[in-house]
Amino acid sequence: MTQAVSETPIQRIAPESPLHDLMEGQARWQIPVHDHGFIALVDVMPRLAPEGQTADAAIVQAARVSYGAGTKAVSEDRTLVRYLLRHRHTTPLEMVEFKFHVSMPMFVARQWIRHRTANVNEYSARYSIVPDRFYRPTAENVRKQSTVNRQGGDEPIDGATAEQFLQLLDKAEANYREYLDLTERGVARELARAALPVSVYTEWYWKCDLHNTLRFLSLRMESHAQQEIQDYARAMYRLIQPLAPHTCEAFMDYEFDALRLTRLEIEAIRAGKPLNTQNKREIAEFEAKKSRLGL
Ligand SMILES: Cc1cc2nc3c(=O)[nH]c(=O)nc-3n(C[C@H](O)[C@H](O)[C@H](O)COP(=O)(O)OP(=O)(O)OC[C@H]3O[C@@H](n4cnc5c(N)ncnc54)[C@H](O)[C@@H]3O)c2cc1C
Repeated sequence: MTQAVSETPIQRIAPESPLHDLMEGQARWQIPVHDHGFIALVDVMPRLAPEGQTADAAIVQAARVSYGAGTKAVSEDRTLVRYLLRHRHTTPLEMVEFKFHVSMPMFVARQWIRHRTANVNEYSARYSIVPDRFYRPTAENVRKQSTVNRQGGDEPIDGATAEQFLQLLDKAEANYREYLDLTERGVARELARAALPVSVYTEWYWKCDLHNTLRFLSLRMESHAQQEIQDYARAMYRLIQPLAPHTCEAFMDYEFDALRLTRLEIEAIRAGKPLNTQNKREIAEFEAKKSRLGL
């Protein structure tokens, strides 16, 4: 008769080789961002890996379940990871997870939260008073609205206009004292916060698997993303790179620094002719790609 599962002893199996802590015994790896912000890696899964290996090992381990003996030909870990990234075999990448603690201005959080595949827990401005921290660019970092990109700005604006903008930020921050005063006089925190500007800092824990973290990074490290969120994304990349170096290298090679060509673009390059479209933006994008290709 088979033993009931409830009575079967748990088998505790020792690793084949000693395991080491990928975060080197530290509670967090933190990078300051902007005036009051930071991004801190507070945990990673796997946290422990065989000596000499990184979280890449968890990806390879998972991939080998699906490919079985089929991976023998590409059995070297780095080669296998690169193969997975090139062919968009993404589920093995979901075996690695990161947990970050982030402090960022509200307007950055607003963009960040659009990445729906993460688990998030944010500071509650209903329970607690919002701390007195506001994002304030330096005068040189006050950007002029771009004329080619409706969403962005790259060049610094003239000093006088920058100064006027910074004074406007000061006025918005001045509301904070009144916000505090009104909460002390009994106005509900959940309502009083409506008077605070979007430059105020919030914080959250953000947990995401490696596949979706790379999606986040490919969109938010990219030059079209707002500079402020790019700064966080680049810091995030620095935190995860030592933990999954083969994956990050492959991500750069096959995704972030790669170039995607449309069918129209391939036809135009083959025929040595202009792009078969009147769309000005698409033509400009094609010209930029050609210049990257040295054509
Ligand atoms: C430069 C830039 C400018 C932007 N401008 C704007 C803007 O003007 N207005 C605006 O509203 N947004 C804007 N966005 C946000 C953008 O449209 C995306 O919402 C955001 O980047 C998240 O991307 P995502 O959906 O791929 O990420 P995630 O939410 O992390 O999703 C990752 C992937 O998971 C899958 N997925 C997740 N959830 C679902 C679901 N419910 N159903 C099916 N599949 C799902 C999809 O394949 C998705 O691509 C901008 C983003 C960038 C980078």
